Formats: sequence, structure tokens, C-alpha cells
Amino acid sequence: MNKATRKTVIAGNWKMNKTPAEGAELLTSMIPLVKDADCDVIACVPFVDLYAAQEATKGTNIKIGAENCHWAESGAFTGEISAQMLSAMGIEYVIIGHSERRQYFGETDVTVNKRVKAALKAGLTVILCVGEYLEQREQGVTAEVCAMQTKIALGGVTAEEMERIIIAYEPVWAIGTGLTATADQADEVCGIIRDVIAGLYNAEVAEATTIQYGGSMNDGNAEELLSKVNVDGGLIGGASLVAEKFAKIVSAASK
Ligand code: PEP
Repeated sequence: MNKATRKTVIAGNWKMNKTPAEGAELLTSMIPLVKDADCDVIACVPFVDLYAAQEATKGTNIKIGAENCHWAESGAFTGEISAQMLSAMGIEYVIIGHSERRQYFGETDVTVNKRVKAALKAGLTVILCVGEYLEQREQGVTAEVCAMQTKIALGGVTAEEMERIIIAYEPVWAIGTGLTATADQADEVCGIIRDVIAGLYNAEVAEATTIQYGGSMNDGNAEELLSKVNVDGGLIGGASLVAEKFAKIVSAASK
């Protein structure tokens, strides 16, 4: 298997943006623009937008995902949403371990692992985010940081379950900052993560795993980033909130 046979996935991460009505409007304008995509197209939206987003995209090629889930099936976790709840409403995807969750909400590699396992158990496909801080890149430990995050997050995940894991390499310094990793930097770290997966499982699993780049990917830089052999798609924040920009990224991924 190689890049040509791996699934290319373009996923939007709306973060804490859009009311249900605004979200439905955005998706409605996106539908005709991405309908011929030759890649998977996902919109990960706030919990309260999920239902409206599903309704708006029924019968289209846009799939809907959540931005997080808890590790317990149910219980005394005020304000949380379980993977089972998402799965029960027909949601297929969930982002786990986004750097904003790690940075602002105390997410650790251990809780990321618990959430990943819960999501897989509930039948969801996980978009697992890993990435280094700027200081870590400057200290030359990017490979170690991404390897460690990947290894801990995937603890207890079987080779079979890896079919439902997408990894998003997201250097923290590039998220929402307008700074983008160069295409070579993105390719290098996605390749390092692929080697980590080969070590944890085997070459076949590593070759089959979709590894996205995320961090200020936009309609201007997507084509170069996505041309790289180890970059199998993108996780898109800001540019996923503008239908035309997101659609151009989808087009770049479909070439
Ligand atoms: C993200 O939120 O995952 C992200 C990559 O954001 P942005 O594209 O805005 O940098």
C-alpha cells in the first residue's frame, strides 16, 4: 500500500464556532462545492450542532464528527458527552487529543488514550491529534514528543482497530497562528509517526494509516502540503469555516 491507495481525508474542525442554524447554512453552501471530492470529507462540529449538521448533510458525501468525547459510557461527569451517546445518534468520527484540549482543559496522554479506547469501543473512527510545541521543536525533540504522544495514545489499540484511527500531526505552533509547517517539515514528521506505527504494529498497518497534517492549512498552501508522500489529508480549523476555502482544500486533495 502507498499514498495512492491510502484514504485521503479532509476534516474540518469548527472548534467553538457556529450555532446549529449557522452550521447548517455553512454545510448547505459547502455541499455543491465538495460533491465530486475524490477524498473523504468530514466536518467536526460542536456537540450542539451535531443534529442540525447531520440533517443538513443527509444523502451527501460530507460526514459529521464531534470534537471530543469522554472515556466513560455514562455517569457522574457533568457537562461531558460519551462516545456511546455520539454513536447512538449516528456520528461516525471524533477528534481526540486536540492541542487546545491538552492546553486549556488538562488533557494528558493518559486521558487521550482512555478517550481513544472508549471511542473505538463505541464504534467511532478517531482523529487522533499529536504535535509539538515551538520550544520542543527548537530543542530538537519533535520526533520524541510525537512518538511518545502516539505510543501512549495507542496503548491497548489493536492492529484491527487501527483501521478506525486517523492521525493528525498538528504542530501546536502552527494551529490558528497563520504559521504553517513547511511541506517538508510536515512530511518528515508524518513519516516519523508512520515509522512509530510500524514499530508498534507492522509495516502494513503503518502504510494503511491515514496521517493528516493540521496547522493553518488553507486554500493557498494545501496543494503543496498534500503533495507530500506521507501527508494523507488535512485537519482544518479556520479555513473550514468558509465554504469556498474548505472546498478548495478538498479539491487540492482530490488531484
Ligand atoms: C485545528 O484546529 O486543528 C487547526 C489546524 O486549526 P487551524 O487550521 O486554524 O490552524
